[in-house]
Amino acid sequence: MPLVPMRAILEATEKYNYAQGAFNVNAVAQAKAVIEVHEMFRSAAIIQGADLANAFMGGRADFANGTLEDKKVGANNIANAVKKYAENSPIPVALHLDHGKNIDSCIAAMDGGYTSVMIDGSSLPFEENIELTREVVKLAHPRGVTVEGELGVLAGVEDHVFSATSTYTNPLDAVEFIRKTGVDALAISYGTKHGANKGAGAVLRKEIAIATKECLRHEGLFCALVSHGSSTVPQYIVKEINALGGTLTDAHGISKEQLKEVSRLGIAKINVDTDIRLAVTRNLRELFWYNPELRTHASIAPIYQLLESRTSDFDPRVFLPPIMPTLMYGDIPDEDVAKVVACIEKGVREVVGTLIVEFDSVGKAPLVEQVTLEEMAERYRKAGI
Ligand SMILES: [Zn+2]
Repeated sequence: MPLVPMRAILEATEKYNYAQGAFNVNAVAQAKAVIEVHEMFRSAAIIQGADLANAFMGGRADFANGTLEDKKVGANNIANAVKKYAENSPIPVALHLDHGKNIDSCIAAMDGGYTSVMIDGSSLPFEENIELTREVVKLAHPRGVTVEGELGVLAGVEDHVFSATSTYTNPLDAVEFIRKTGVDALAISYGTKHGANKGAGAVLRKEIAIATKECLRHEGLFCALVSHGSSTVPQYIVKEINALGGTLTDAHGISKEQLKEVSRLGIAKINVDTDIRLAVTRNLRELFWYNPELRTHASIAPIYQLLESRTSDFDPRVFLPPIMPTLMYGDIPDEDVAKVVACIEKGVREVVGTLIVEFDSVGKAPLVEQVTLEEMAERYRKAGI
């Protein structure tokens, strides 16, 4: 079926009290695997492309320096792949821009075919964040596109999003922000952290989510709360990576138990990126560890060399540029590259499958209304948001 606006998926989480994982992708094969595993569990799917993932998918191995032009190309590549797989899928799929940096990034994503965008104004003063987010809502809602904002600052590092310290979201500010901007979803800061170094024993301030949700109910406002920086950093994968030549240190995530709990307490969307990166990195290391003859095969030898020289990295975007056309378009030129693609797909299935079960979105696909962007635009128009 055609992509749905993310709001349709979020409304179902609200109505039936569960959470939906939202998974970041940086390659066509990842998008394919994310959709397949959701199909297997009969869950709707939220696929995310981060702002810099769009630059990477636009062909920029040095994605941090990606231009708006690169992001436009990459947004198109991701959207084309996701649309193709979703078209033949029985589950609803939404494509969401994660951490849109500015209005131009959001427009590039929407033009490329994204059905949801995040504008991250969390580093701005409150009033300026409202103003910027409102601008994006005004551009997105007439297209039926969902908008996610962010209030409060998460600590940690993820692509260009970096903060040394966190500021928890004030629930009263959140309600004012939602009323003034008309956002459909709001990322709150309540103890999660971007990246793989969340510190051992991170504790979520779940009362912030509960209080915000209660205030919204009293005000009669719809807005789905989003938990960023929520990777679980499975310790078995960290150990395996290190046993296969990696040198990861201090890698800790948010416990699955806590995420499961908040998924019943008002958190509707849980963003996961690091776990997928870790599983794919482990699979790549394993491939070359157990098949030493592949280390010198021409098309994938450069991947092995990167794995060898960058032992403390776990972002597949560091290792995979030697097969850029495969990542961007899904081309598989030979059977060695096919083995690498299998590593990517298997990593996605392992992590995403686990979390679909943990977050309880199993079997929820039929509960999501199959609404089109045009119908959603009409609803916003009537509601004046
Ligand atoms: Zn985030």
